[in-house]
Amino acid sequence: MYYKDISGVTVSALGMGNMRLPTTDGTPNAPIDRVKAQEIIDYAYSHGITYYDTAYRYHGGESEYFIGEALSKYPRDTWYLASKFPGHMMEYKGNGVLGFTSMLAGHPDSTVDAVFNEQLAKCKVDYFDFYLLHNVNEKSVAMYNNEEVGIIPYLVKQKEAGKIRHLGFSSHGTAETIDAFLTKYEGLFEFVQIQLNYLDWKLQDAKAKYEVIAKHGLKVVVMEGVRGGRLAAIPEAEMKKLQAVRPDDSAAKWALRWLQALPEVSVVLSGMTTLDQIVENTATFDKPDPVTEAEAELLSGVADSMLSLVPCTACRYCTEGCPMGLEIPKIIAAYNGVKNGDNMAKYKEDDVDESMRPSRCIGCGSCMGICPQNINIPEIMSTFAGMLAK
Ligand code: SF4
Ligand code: SF4
Repeated sequence: MYYKDISGVTVSALGMGNMRLPTTDGTPNAPIDRVKAQEIIDYAYSHGITYYDTAYRYHGGESEYFIGEALSKYPRDTWYLASKFPGHMMEYKGNGVLGFTSMLAGHPDSTVDAVFNEQLAKCKVDYFDFYLLHNVNEKSVAMYNNEEVGIIPYLVKQKEAGKIRHLGFSSHGTAETIDAFLTKYEGLFEFVQIQLNYLDWKLQDAKAKYEVIAKHGLKVVVMEGVRGGRLAAIPEAEMKKLQAVRPDDSAAKWALRWLQALPEVSVVLSGMTTLDQIVENTATFDKPDPVTEAEAELLSGVADSMLSLVPCTACRYCTEGCPMGLEIPKIIAAYNGVKNGDNMAKYKEDDVDESMRPSRCIGCGSCMGICPQNINIPEIMSTFAGMLAK
C-alpha cells in the first residue's frame, strides 16, 4: 500500500467504502453478512488500508454499527474513520427538530446533536477522524446553510472539542455549487469527496469539479472510482483495446490506475463486496502505477463509447420508495446491456421476475429527484418497455 496526504494526515491511497458490504442473502437490503464483511475488513487492515468510510444511511444504518465493531479490535490510532451527517435527507420542522426524508423517511424526528452523538455511539468512537456533510447539492445546500438549524456551527464546535479531527463534505452537486459552497466557507473544509472516474470526467463534468476543488487548494477523496462496478465490465470491444496494451489487467485496474494519475486525488474509496475485489484492489495500490498519457487517451476513447449509456451507479437510493418493488438499477443495467449490443432476445419480460419488468412502472414519480445521477427513471422504464414490446 502506498500513502497520500489529506490536510497533513497520511492516509492509505485506497480507502475501504462500507456501502456495499456483503449481505446474508446477497441482496442489497438484507443484513450485513458480518463474518464475510469482517474478513474483508481484516484483509484491508492487514494490507495497509487505514481509511474507512461510512455514513448514517449506509446499509439502512447498519454500516456504522458494523464498521465500528469491526475496527474496534485494532488500536484506535492505527485507522481513520470517516462518517457523514445526513442533512441531504432531512427537513427542518422548527424548534431545532429535524425530520428525515427520502430513504430515511420513517426514522423518528431528531436534532443535530442527537444525530451526531448517535453516530459516535454506533461507531464505538469518541471522535471521527474525518467527518463530512453528506451530499451538498443544489437541493440540500439550503439545509446546510440554514443558520437556524445550525449544522455547520455545531460541527465546528465538535471540531474545537476534538470530536471531529477533519471536516469535509461529499457532493453530487454541480461544479458551481461546490465552488460557491467552498467560497462561502473558505478555510473551513479540508477535503471534498466527489464521484470521479474516467467516464464521469466527461459524463458528469467531474473534470470541472476536480478543478474547482484544486483551485481552493483542497484534496479530493474519490467515490465511485469504478462507477458502482460499471467500469469493471466495459463493452467487449473496448476491453479488447485495453487488453492489447496490458493483457493481464482487469477493467477495474485500468479505472483505478487512471485515478492514480491525478495529483489532487488523495484517497480512492472502493465499496468492496468480496474478498476477491479487495485482494485485486490492494494489489493495484501496492505502489503507484498511474496510466501513461497514451493509456489515458485510450480510456478517453472507452468513455466516449459509453457516453450514451444511462449513468446508474447502482446506489439503490431509488428502490425503497418504488411501490411496484422494481429492481430499478438492475433494469437499467439490462437496458444498458441491450443498448450495448446484447441480443434483445436474451431479455424478455415474460422470462424475468416481476421486479425486473420495466412495463410495470406506473410512472408514479416517487423515484424522481432522489437519484444522485439525475436519471429520469420513469422515462427509462417507459423507453425500455417500449423496446421490449416491439
Ligand atoms: S416511477 Fe416507476 S420506477 Fe419510479 S417509483 Fe414509480 S413505479 Fe417505481
Ligand atoms: S437510478 Fe439513480 S438512484 Fe437508482 S440506483 Fe441508479 S444511480 Fe442510484
